Amino acid sequence: MRIDVITTFPEVIEAGAGFSIVKRAREKGVLDLMVHNLRDYARDRHRSTDDEPFGPGAGMVMKPEPVFDAVETIRRESGSVRSKVLLMTPQGETFSQSIASELACEDHLIIICGHYEGVDERIREHLVDREISIGDYVLTGGELPSLVVLDAVTRLLPGALGAEESALEESFAEGLLEYPHYTRPAEFRGWRVPDVLLSGHHAEIARWRRVQSLKRTYERRPDLLSQAKLTDEDRVILCRVMQEQETEEDNNERD
Ligand code: SAM
Repeated sequence: MRIDVITTFPEVIEAGAGFSIVKRAREKGVLDLMVHNLRDYARDRHRSTDDEPFGPGAGMVMKPEPVFDAVETIRRESGSVRSKVLLMTPQGETFSQSIASELACEDHLIIICGHYEGVDERIREHLVDREISIGDYVLTGGELPSLVVLDAVTRLLPGALGAEESALEESFAEGLLEYPHYTRPAEFRGWRVPDVLLSGHHAEIARWRRVQSLKRTYERRPDLLSQAKLTDEDRVILCRVMQEQETEEDNNERD
């Protein structure tokens, strides 16, 4: 997959994409990441990419010409006709694992990082396919949000994760939170790892993990359960988890 990021701070993207799984994916040719300095597409001698807003008010707005030029040049030079242009903005749809999965199916993404007050509205109206927010808070620029998208999407590309890593069992992959993990030592400060994990019994371990995953999701993110892929056995387990929780709450009230 190819991803082009357009930014006024290319060093932030290069630094964020320069280690761990994203770095490996680039080295393996799974991800072709190109980082573009928006200033290279500015037309005036000061290489300005922003200007004052029309109407009263503080702050600067990113100019349309350099952004249109950058996207059109990338499209022309890459020969890509099916590229999707993403704008990072707190006003976009909230990023999620399912959006990451959709984006991982694309051949080519072009990500625009905003700054200052944001971008000229004509960019959003006439150039952008999808507007993405990483949450209900305002950051200084689109570089950190674009790295979040880049990382989440890269993990889902075939060949990005090693054989020992799997995106399939991770939180949200099947609409549930993942089960808890333990490593050596088996006992630490008197806290023991659950016996089943030391049993070597793979079927029992798989069942324990499924129960924990359902329990966690019910306790922390019950909103996910309505969309999760649940088997009949999962539903039986969930009923038991709910009953246990009710009994626990009743006991706490009595104490
Ligand atoms: N004035 C804008 C508003 O109120 O909606 C906020 C602009 S913000 C200071 C500058 C840039 O940071 C945005 O154009 C966007 O690219 C990026 N940004 C900030 N917060 C973000 C978020 N939660 N998700 C995605 N991008 C964000």
